[in-house]
Amino acid sequence: MEKGGNPKEIKSLLEKFTNAHGISGFEDDVRELLEKEIEPYVDTLRKDNMGNLIAIKKGEGPSIMLAAHMDEIGLMVRYIDDNGFLRFVGIGGWFDQTLLNQRVVVRGKKGFIPGVIGSKPPHVMKEDDRKKPVKIEDMFIDIGAKDREDAENLGIEIGTTASIDREFVSLANGKVTSKAFDDRAGIVILIEVMKRLSKHKIEANVYAVGTVQEEVGLKGARTCAFGICPNLALALDTTIPGDHPGINKTDSSLEVGKGPVITVADASGRGLIAHPQVLKWLKDTAVENKIPYQLGVGSGGTTDATSIHLTKEGIPTGTVSIATRYIHSPVEVLDMADIEACISLIVKAIENVGRYF
Ligand SMILES: [Zn+2]
Repeated sequence: MEKGGNPKEIKSLLEKFTNAHGISGFEDDVRELLEKEIEPYVDTLRKDNMGNLIAIKKGEGPSIMLAAHMDEIGLMVRYIDDNGFLRFVGIGGWFDQTLLNQRVVVRGKKGFIPGVIGSKPPHVMKEDDRKKPVKIEDMFIDIGAKDREDAENLGIEIGTTASIDREFVSLANGKVTSKAFDDRAGIVILIEVMKRLSKHKIEANVYAVGTVQEEVGLKGARTCAFGICPNLALALDTTIPGDHPGINKTDSSLEVGKGPVITVADASGRGLIAHPQVLKWLKDTAVENKIPYQLGVGSGGTTDATSIHLTKEGIPTGTVSIATRYIHSPVEVLDMADIEACISLIVKAIENVGRYF
C-alpha cells in the first residue's frame, strides 16, 4: 500500500495557492508558483500561447491530460470617476451580493493596492431600496484616492484587475476556508499527483496542465487539448454539495468530507456526460483501493472537461471534483480529507490506466 502525502505540506500548498491572486486572463502569479512547485516532479515544462502551463511526465502508454484551472473569478476596472472611485465589471460568475463591502486587492501598475467595495449606508436608504439587492454595476472600489488623477498616479487604469482579499483559515474537523478553492484545490491535487507519480515508472504519458480562463468560457483547456490531443482526459475541479442550510439533498446529493466526486453528468448533460469507460476506470479504482467517492449529477456549472471532450474527433473525458461549500464566494469551505482521497484516486487510476485504455 502506497503511503499518502504529508497532510501539513498539502495544507500549506493550498494556503499558498489560495492566498495568491490571479483572475481569468491574469494568471501569471499562480502559473509562476505552479511552475516552481511542479518542476521537480516532471520531465518537461512549457507555457503555450494562451498561457496554459503544461508539465509532462513521460512513460510508455496512453497519454492522459489532467486539467486544473489556475484562474479565479475577479473584477476589472471599467471607469475611474472624477472623485477617484473605481467602477468595475465582474470577470466570471459572481453572485453580486457576495461582493458588497468586501476588501479587495487591486493589481495596480506599481504593485498591489488595497481597496474596499463601498456602498450606500443602510441608514440613508429608502425602505424599498433596503429590500433590494445591490447590483454589481452600482458598486465601486474605494482605494482612498483623492480624484481620478490621484488614482491614475497610484497605478490604476482602465483594465486594472482586482480580486478578493481573503486569506486561508482552518476550521474545525479538518475543514478549511478561503477564496479560490475553485480551482486552486485542483492545482494542489495536480502537484501532489505528479509528486507521487514521480517516484516510479508509469505506463502513461501524463500531461499535467494548469489552464487559463476557465471561469470565462473554458478557454485555455480548449486550445490546450487541441495541442496535446491526449488519449483521455480528466478535469480536476470543485463542485456544489447539498449539505448545509439553504440547499436540499434533492438539489445535490453530495456532502463535504464524503470523498471526491466522480461526475456522471453536469449542467443536465449539456456540459459533460462522462465517457463510460472513464467512469468505469475511476469507479473500479476507487473500489479496489477502498477510496471513498461520491457520484455527481449536476444541473448547474461545467468544467474544463466540457471543452476538452469535444476536441478533434472527441476525447474520452471525466471530471473529479472536491465538494466545496459556498463556491464563487470569498468564504469557500472544503474538507482536507477529500483532497487526500482525490489525490489517491487519481494516482491509483493512472497507475492502472493500461487495463482500461
Ligand atoms: Zn472551477
